[in-house]
Amino acid sequence: MILLDGKKTSEAIQSEIAAEVAQIKAEGGKAPHLAAILVGNDGGSMTYVNNKVLACERVGFESTLIHYDTEVTEEELLAKIKEINQDDTVDGLIVQLPLPKHINANRVLEVMDYKKDVDGFHPVNVGHMVVGLPSYLPATPYGIMELLDRYKIETKGKHCVVVGRSNIVGLPVSILMSKCTFPGDATVTICHRHTVDLASHTRQADILIVAVGQPLMIKADMVKEGAVVIDVGTTRVPDATRERGWRLRGDVDFDNVASKCSYITPVPGGVGPLTISMLLKNTLRAAKKEVHA
Ligand code: NDP
Repeated sequence: MILLDGKKTSEAIQSEIAAEVAQIKAEGGKAPHLAAILVGNDGGSMTYVNNKVLACERVGFESTLIHYDTEVTEEELLAKIKEINQDDTVDGLIVQLPLPKHINANRVLEVMDYKKDVDGFHPVNVGHMVVGLPSYLPATPYGIMELLDRYKIETKGKHCVVVGRSNIVGLPVSILMSKCTFPGDATVTICHRHTVDLASHTRQADILIVAVGQPLMIKADMVKEGAVVIDVGTTRVPDATRERGWRLRGDVDFDNVASKCSYITPVPGGVGPLTISMLLKNTLRAAKKEVHA
């Protein structure tokens, strides 16, 4: 069994990005600039956004964090996004989700300039991804592709089973795995909460990608011998032995599943660390106008 080390892979990607940024600056160019909008004071969201800003600093990007109270109106938020759309000094823009209920997240996404949508959630980028045109790939599926690529895991002709069909992970990763690119060319099955006899599907997977958010739901008897298992799930569960009172759990029962796998991601330290690196990569691509002219 080989552990897919997301932390090490993420560090390698960030070093490559930092080297490229240093080169751009040495040649008199401008550092890529990411703007992040955060609404409200949810602890998880604040940590995610702060980590993104810190990662920008690490690789030499510029970053701007715009933090609104939960009470901000949709109008105010949309006005700010339109302002950033027009601001040539900003290359990439992200709006941390989830947003408060009184704000329509779809409207926020649609108002954003798709050329700055480095999260890859704008319908134009999603459409481009589906038909194989240049697009920003959503960071978590992009990270999974990068991990499979860097570990040279064969995907062509394999049966890939994806559990979960969210717009940010399950659905895009299943599209990417089915396309005629590398990694890709897999035969893909998508499972969700209405799937009957989930285990009968997961047991057929050469590559099993799980993005559900239910700790330890994938047990050893649901996994084929020799499978590649990618665990996207990250749920905080109470843990009195930790000072902070919680620990992260994946969707896969790692302790009992790992010995059956050819490759498996741990949680933490698997897919998670890659997400920020791929956001940085999208921002660098935005600054270089590599995706949309
Ligand atoms: P969502 O809640 O948006 O989607 C969960 C999906 O799981 C849905 O499609 C749902 O089906 C499906 N599902 C729920 N219960 C079952 C079940 N019993 N059997 C089969 N399918 C089921 O979650 P996300 O996709 O946003 O996130 C999934 C997990 O990945 C979470 O733990 C999240 O924290 C983690 N995550 C980690 C990231 C990272 O590492 N960087 C980034 C993003 C997410 P249905 O559509 O029918 O409701």
